Amino acid sequence: MRIAILSDIHGNLEALEAVLADIEGTGTGLLWSLGDIVGYGPSPAECVEIVRSRAAVSLRGNHDAAVTGSTPIDYFNAFARSALEWTVTRLDAAQSGYLSALPIVHRAPGLLLVHASPVEPERWHYIRGLADVEEHFGAFSEKLCFVGHSHQPGIYSVDRDRRIAQHPGRDSLRPGMRHIVNAGSVGQPRDRDPRACYALLDDAEATVELRRVPYPVAKTQAKMRAAGLPGYLSERLAVGL
Ligand code: ZN
Repeated sequence: MRIAILSDIHGNLEALEAVLADIEGTGTGLLWSLGDIVGYGPSPAECVEIVRSRAAVSLRGNHDAAVTGSTPIDYFNAFARSALEWTVTRLDAAQSGYLSALPIVHRAPGLLLVHASPVEPERWHYIRGLADVEEHFGAFSEKLCFVGHSHQPGIYSVDRDRRIAQHPGRDSLRPGMRHIVNAGSVGQPRDRDPRACYALLDDAEATVELRRVPYPVAKTQAKMRAAGLPGYLSERLAVGL
């Protein structure tokens, strides 16, 4: 079976729709969300509805936690804070209730899903690159772990001799290896590639892949301007920062 793993959608409906169309084309049957469905973007309610109806596993991210009051809003910078305050006004009670009930960790045999990191998932640590992963490999025993949160996609492996490596784009899940996969961000990529990003796990082939999908950035930016969201937040979408 193929499973699409989406993270950090951040209220970006155009990016989410483009990713869903790409998923459709791959014949993927299952969708998991690693959280931060809302925050930053102009379509939080629409994104919550899609994830609520489509995702078989759905986790709570730090922005989801902030709009429902379980992470203090002063944890965030001024841009994020102002978008969060706006987002709160766009969600109805059922949508907020959905976000506040989401778990922050999901485990299945051989598999760990978290929004941020295996180490203290409730503290929202960032995994941004190879230098960050070693301590996190020591914090879980499963073969495969998916994370998001940093908006920096990456596939990392550790072998039996504790050698750590990063794999561009795609890797095989070989016996004796464990992996951390950062699924990147659907709605606000920060690796200087503005295309939406998500991860695709192929159970039968034992592969994992990071996929990039272009979407109409200008349309999202226009909606953000119309909503009065900070200009910096819309400008960054065009450059992937
Ligand atoms: Zn995020």
